[in-house]
Amino acid sequence: MLPTMNQETKKFELPALSYDYAALEPVIDAQTMAIHHGKHHQAYVDKLNAALEGQPGLTGKTLEELLTNPTGAPEAVSMAIHNNGGGHFNHTLFWEMMVPGGSKEPVGELSAALAETFGSFDEFKKTFTQAATTQFGSGWAWLAFQGGKLMVYSTANQDNTLRQGGKPVLTLDVWEHAYYLKYQNRRPEYIEAWWNVVNWDKANEFYLAAK
Ligand code: MN
Repeated sequence: MLPTMNQETKKFELPALSYDYAALEPVIDAQTMAIHHGKHHQAYVDKLNAALEGQPGLTGKTLEELLTNPTGAPEAVSMAIHNNGGGHFNHTLFWEMMVPGGSKEPVGELSAALAETFGSFDEFKKTFTQAATTQFGSGWAWLAFQGGKLMVYSTANQDNTLRQGGKPVLTLDVWEHAYYLKYQNRRPEYIEAWWNVVNWDKANEFYLAAK
């Protein structure tokens, strides 16, 4: 589910995970999950809410609206909304895109679409892995439905598919905070291991909703 606002408080909130912090081991260790979700993601939510305070014109807007359209707020506020709203959006997706044990291979219409677009699942994996590995510095790798087709690319910092008119289907966090405790500088090892916890049922749901 995409991030929604608490309709009573008009605040964004940290979503609960559907699995324990230790559930993705050995691919992602419990300490990394606890810090990543409980500290990093929480901070994006808190800073997003702080940036929106005092901006009555923006109260009640969805996160997609805030990230897709110019906010009309002063530059510093707008930047804070973009960075922290992006962080909230991206991480919410990321947690959902993983499941203990993973489902190993794409399912449903997404499976057929990946084969048609990239030639095979293996070729798709190579393309996505390449995008994730070569993203310089912090960022995200994406499988997006954009311009009527599936595309793979990476974005810097907390940018995402929305401003490019794309809808997310699958995403991977390649900020160092996502893997450094266990993998240190070995980002390729983290990416290779991550395929084992991808939630392909969820990716297929996002694909069906996007197309
Ligand atoms: Mn992160």
